[in-house]
Amino acid sequence: MRAEIIAIGDELTSGQRLDTNTQWLSERLGELGVTVAFHTTVGDDLETNVAAFRTAFDRADIVVSTGGLGPTADDLTRDALAAAAGVELVQDGAALEHIRDLFARRRREMPEQNVRQAQFPRGSRAVPNSHGTAPGIDFTVPRPSPSPPQIGEGLAEGACRVFALPGVPAEMFEMWEASVAPAIAAALGSRRVIRHRRIKVFGAGESDVEAMLPDMIRRKREPLVGITVSGATITLRITASGPNDAACEQAMAPTIAQIREILGVLVFGEEDDELEHAVVRLLNERKQSMAVAEWATDGLVSQWLAEAASGSGCFRGGIVVRDAAMLCTLLDVAVEASDGANERTASAMAQAVREKSGAVYGLAIAALPASGPAESTAATDPHGVEFSGTLHIALATSDNVRVKGFPLASHPAITKPRSAKQALNMLRLTMLNG
Ligand code: AMP
Ligand code: MG
Repeated sequence: MRAEIIAIGDELTSGQRLDTNTQWLSERLGELGVTVAFHTTVGDDLETNVAAFRTAFDRADIVVSTGGLGPTADDLTRDALAAAAGVELVQDGAALEHIRDLFARRRREMPEQNVRQAQFPRGSRAVPNSHGTAPGIDFTVPRPSPSPPQIGEGLAEGACRVFALPGVPAEMFEMWEASVAPAIAAALGSRRVIRHRRIKVFGAGESDVEAMLPDMIRRKREPLVGITVSGATITLRITASGPNDAACEQAMAPTIAQIREILGVLVFGEEDDELEHAVVRLLNERKQSMAVAEWATDGLVSQWLAEAASGSGCFRGGIVVRDAAMLCTLLDVAVEASDGANERTASAMAQAVREKSGAVYGLAIAALPASGPAESTAATDPHGVEFSGTLHIALATSDNVRVKGFPLASHPAITKPRSAKQALNMLRLTMLNG
């Protein structure tokens, strides 16, 4: 059972809009236990659309297309589908009535070109669209050259089942849930579902984490464990398939428990969690608060925490400075020009922001050469931006200030979020270790 997704629109092929519908559809098909084997993106051009559909009919058992169902001249999906299947377009009286009715209820005259939206390739059915005018199309197309028969009940052998949906995400989502997903589930008969869980890890490199989980990250393992890294945050993705949700969860539970046991505090959360969510959870559990002073991260920590803590008072606020003069003005921390953003500075910032805010924790981030005078010079990019230096993170509590140094050796676009994450992680580990 293989599926193909075809995304249609010049705005996609030209790069003006990101094709998020394909990502969404792939996840939904996966949940139904259908493997997505191909992603195709084509512009608003009839010939290319016909070719794309023909190829898909040939190599996929299920095709879901998105886009091109509107009433305008560049909406060609219905014509392309009919041409690719070698049938004509026929008017559907009920669909036309529905469209006329919609316009009447909005007290508008139906433009003549909207009649097109009630045309369907002969032999296909309409997929109702409660949010918009354009109905979708549900079409079983005989396969020109039959591929190996691995088709479930309800999916004709030697045929490809095509669902054409609109590009407007809200309409597509609704039609998927209401019509397409149930149709595919029914067609599959003995249903198998695929479920994923994600475990989020910070504080070790990708290969170190892999080495700590021997024999877990290999192809064909059941359940499958995959590892990806994005901005120093590692995601372990566990995948199981089974007859239902409960069976998948049961199959994944021992693997998840084992990963958590081995990695310990390196694991900070699950699913969409980021470090700031973990920090906010811990602060709320302990009824504690924190404030941050940032010189190097341009307010990233403040922004993340403010979003994660919305509605809770655990994040008192943040101060963002770009140079020593502002640091002195806002926090009364005087820095010698020769000192810059060093260990002493970070420590003074953490204490000052803690005292001024009245929070339990004062966190500070100071780094060169993010701003201020450079104290170290190393690799420079073609534009002369220095890439290396040292990041100092300080955490002040009621009884001490701890400072940690981290080497910085990358572009600010990379080091800034990393520095922000290191700071959040230092606070998280301090809270966990008492
Ligand atoms: P269409 O159904 O082709 O008229 O598309 C209507 C609108 O939906 C477009 O203008 C886009 O803003 C949006 N859209 C179309 N295709 C996609 C896609 N693959 N991913 C995200 N948005 C899309
Ligand atoms: Mg379009």
